Amino acid sequence: MVLASLTPLSAVARAGARSSAFQSRRFLAQVVNAKGHDQSTPSSYKVVVVGGGSAGLSVASTLAETLGNKAVAVVEPSDVHYYQPLWTFVGSGLKTFDESKMAMSEVMPEKAQWIKDSVASFNPKQNTVVLANGESISYDYLVVAAGIQTNWGKIKNLPETLGKNGVTSNYSAQSVQKTDEFIKAFKGGNALFTMPSTPIKCAGAPQKIMYLAEEQWRKAGIRSQTNINYFTGLGKIFAIDKYANELLKICKKRDLNINFFTDLTEIKPESKEAVFNILAGEAKGTTLTLPYEFLHVTPPMGAPEFIKSSPLSNADGWVDVDKETLRHNKFSNVYSLGDCSSLPTSKTAAAITAQSAVLKNNLLGDIYGDNQVAKYDGYTSCPLVTGSESLILAEFSGYTGQPQETFPFDQSKERFSTYLLTKEVIPEIYWKSMVKGTWDGPAKYRKLFGVV
Ligand SMILES: Cc1cc2nc3c(=O)[nH]c(=O)nc-3n(C[C@H](O)[C@H](O)[C@H](O)COP(=O)(O)OP(=O)(O)OC[C@H]3O[C@@H](n4cnc5c(N)ncnc54)[C@H](O)[C@@H]3O)c2cc1C
Repeated sequence: MVLASLTPLSAVARAGARSSAFQSRRFLAQVVNAKGHDQSTPSSYKVVVVGGGSAGLSVASTLAETLGNKAVAVVEPSDVHYYQPLWTFVGSGLKTFDESKMAMSEVMPEKAQWIKDSVASFNPKQNTVVLANGESISYDYLVVAAGIQTNWGKIKNLPETLGKNGVTSNYSAQSVQKTDEFIKAFKGGNALFTMPSTPIKCAGAPQKIMYLAEEQWRKAGIRSQTNINYFTGLGKIFAIDKYANELLKICKKRDLNINFFTDLTEIKPESKEAVFNILAGEAKGTTLTLPYEFLHVTPPMGAPEFIKSSPLSNADGWVDVDKETLRHNKFSNVYSLGDCSSLPTSKTAAAITAQSAVLKNNLLGDIYGDNQVAKYDGYTSCPLVTGSESLILAEFSGYTGQPQETFPFDQSKERFSTYLLTKEVIPEIYWKSMVKGTWDGPAKYRKLFGVV
């Protein structure tokens, strides 16, 4: 019954034989729905995918290809699709912003219907979603892939300060280029980098930019007049000890001060000061105020509000799915993956490669009456860039807390090869394969290299 290694492509192949029967059923549905509606945008679909980001497109591409023209709708308000993992490189001038983006129309699966709007609410008992424009769209199956919400407003004065006077963040398309500009303009003084205590996407990104900035300031000859401090709301520098231990050694060697259990709460733009809450230890409950010349902020994040307030959410606001099958715990025709899901693993695009394979297998299994269930094992990865020629390639399962590496060498050591892989090869895989639904992660290479 369980096929942990089953790829979605095998499910797609099984599905292929049955898809023509579905095509004719779908056509009927579309004609019925066409009454009173524009026939090119029916109000009913076999599958509705909410979000055209990394997760939504990797699922929608395969489903649209398998189920045929306009059986699948993708609700996505944005004109632009971003490959956000590149923003670490953009923020340090190693890639251009343009390389991280593509017009949504270019990456939207040809056979899917793009509904260019936001979902405002869910009615899972009626199998409908309501759009921001008030229109209702019905589905047989729903996939929720709307990403995580960045809560800029939770840090006092951050929205109005971002992108000005040394305050920046790689977590926004609007400010990521400012990071590069401010790093290059920096003349020494206090440089602060923050990581909140909330869940975030890519938990390594808040510190990667610190390593890259430090390298630039060292090369520019201003390192001796620069104090670098990293403030994290958490008690560890990275969740997995194997990588955390190496990162701590690097910080010690490069004189980077790591401060645990400290959460940024306020920016004072006039005096150029950052205010932190101390979350643990003897000073718990007090605040710390520090002047800055450069401040890279990772904002607090959380579940999107429209999911939080819906019947689909768990107590923390995430889409409440089974951690192995990705099926909703209450509504069996609803699935979720990626940053907005309750899956208890690190939120990355890499995790989505494995999640989307499982989800597509199980959803297509539902449609075609196939009960070969695939299970997600919590795989995720964080390429920890430590310089312009070095990287620690963390790969692990968020479910076991154990490394799950692809290559037959110790990935916790800094390497140029994994740096090149992350900067040059993985982006190619992303645009040419992941958004097209044909990349289901490195599991098969792990087998090839004899790692498992
Ligand atoms: C600086 C940075 C560095 C990163 N580095 C890495 C890395 O090195 N490796 C890695 O694997 N990952 C990395 N990530 C994380 C990775 O980008 C995310 O985990 C991934 O993009 C999540 O995909 P998603 O589809 O869940 O969300 P997203 O890609 O964010 O897509 C969500 C989509 O949903 C849409 N949406 C939102 N609300 C609605 C609504 N109401 N209705 C309809 N659509 C909606 C949005 O417009 C968006 O297009 C990084 C992220 C950042 C910001």
